[in-house]
Amino acid sequence: MTSQQMIDEPGGKVPVVAEADLVVVGGGPAGIAAAVSGARNGLSTVLLERYPYLGGLASGGMVLVLDDMCNGNEVTVRGLCSELIDRMTGMGLCVTPPEEDWIADEGKFQQWARWGTYNFHSHSKPQPVCYASAFDPDGFKRAANDMVAEAGVKLRLHSWFSRTIVENGIARGVICDSKEGRQAILGKVVVDATGDLDVAASAGAPFSHGSFIVTTVFRLGGVDTAEAERFEYEEPAAFAKLDRECKRIMGGSWERWWLKTPLPGIVWCNCPHMAGFDGTSVADLTRADFVGREKIANLVAYIRANMPGFANAFVVDVAPQLGVRTSRLLEGEYVLTKEDVATRRHFADSVARGRDYYYPYRTLLPRGVSQMLVAGRHYSSTAAAQRISREIPPCMAMGEAVGVAASVALDQGVSVDKVDVAKVQRILRAQGADPGDRPAANATFQEAAE
Ligand SMILES: Cc1cc2nc3c(=O)[nH]c(=O)nc-3n(C[C@H](O)[C@H](O)[C@H](O)COP(=O)(O)OP(=O)(O)OC[C@H]3O[C@@H](n4cnc5c(N)ncnc54)[C@H](O)[C@@H]3O)c2cc1C
Repeated sequence: MTSQQMIDEPGGKVPVVAEADLVVVGGGPAGIAAAVSGARNGLSTVLLERYPYLGGLASGGMVLVLDDMCNGNEVTVRGLCSELIDRMTGMGLCVTPPEEDWIADEGKFQQWARWGTYNFHSHSKPQPVCYASAFDPDGFKRAANDMVAEAGVKLRLHSWFSRTIVENGIARGVICDSKEGRQAILGKVVVDATGDLDVAASAGAPFSHGSFIVTTVFRLGGVDTAEAERFEYEEPAAFAKLDRECKRIMGGSWERWWLKTPLPGIVWCNCPHMAGFDGTSVADLTRADFVGREKIANLVAYIRANMPGFANAFVVDVAPQLGVRTSRLLEGEYVLTKEDVATRRHFADSVARGRDYYYPYRTLLPRGVSQMLVAGRHYSSTAAAQRISREIPPCMAMGEAVGVAASVALDQGVSVDKVDVAKVQRILRAQGADPGDRPAANATFQEAAE
């Protein structure tokens, strides 16, 4: 490989356009929760987002089911995530099975499976319906806007993070690129919620590079979902044959490649599966759009001609953000392993929970730079662990936790790595979140080797 050509760029002075206690970079699920949580706990807070809306993969990526919020017996993610669900439900843009339906029953399963609101980790047949929510992407954006505005967060959209300002090993703020040129935003604590670890990586924190399939999620309109479900359950052999062909055309997908949304006749398609793309490579991100759209066009032609319920289907939109599940992963103070997740290992410094696993505070603490926290899908974990512990609700729980941690640290005048975790846990409980400080009956306790 030839060495890359470089040019000298004039540095120049960069205006400081905002200064706050807390600077959160990335307005996805984790960043929204971090900013709202920090602001509600008394911190002046700036939230930066490159795109013209909030929500990250949940809205711009059109990932339209909130799951991993319960372990079969109890709801494990509450707090700001529950509040968001309530707000979207109030807008008529979120559908959640009622509690009496959270059972393993064939009738209930058939009623809810195409909403994606069942426990797909369960090996029982039928899989139990559970607490999970199908929502509309615009509802997510509106509810997030309301929450950040009401909390007094200073939101700066259209701001593309480019560099972390680090002085003597301490994060002091960030530089963004914008229509107005480069801008500096200074803060006492910086949270990386970019999903790709842009901020911590720029600050020199160690990380690994995970990769997994990517997806150009899309929505179809004009779908007769009642007819599609009738065919699926009344003619299972014929359905299975056509469904197999759909998956072949796409080159792979999860078991149910289309799911209902709160808008009638509109379904979201969590497909195709596309391997071999690096979520931080401009060339790969560009190529994915072409590959994905071609697969979608081929699929739509096939289902319009063959699949009952889809004769009049049309593409409403392809998600503006490519569905990157994994890219850079922090190698922080503790790296969560697949075994930790699979054995439901409990940690004394747990500050957030997912389905039935726990996130120790140390997985949100970068090494090599102080006054920085991370939250979201790039948290400190192995790629195998992250694959099964990165859903939207737990990312929000991590965000809520770091917002509180930043506030406790600044209040106590200590750095974020010295924060009183027990106090963080108490505050999280008091504000309705579940930090995972009380291990469930099925938790294991062996502290992982350091
Ligand atoms: C195809 C697909 C299907 C999935 N299915 C589900 C599912 O069914 N249910 C579920 O709960 N989860 C699902 N997930 C996982 C879930 O969507 C993500 O793990 C979750 O959204 C991560 O949240 P986050 O806030 O950490 O990151 P993101 O959602 O990626 O948000 C990061 C935010 O940071 C912003 N940002 C990034 N870089 C910069 C920068 N340089 N400057 C400024 N802003 C920046 C982004 O624009 C974005 O708004 C799925 C993921 C994918 C890709």
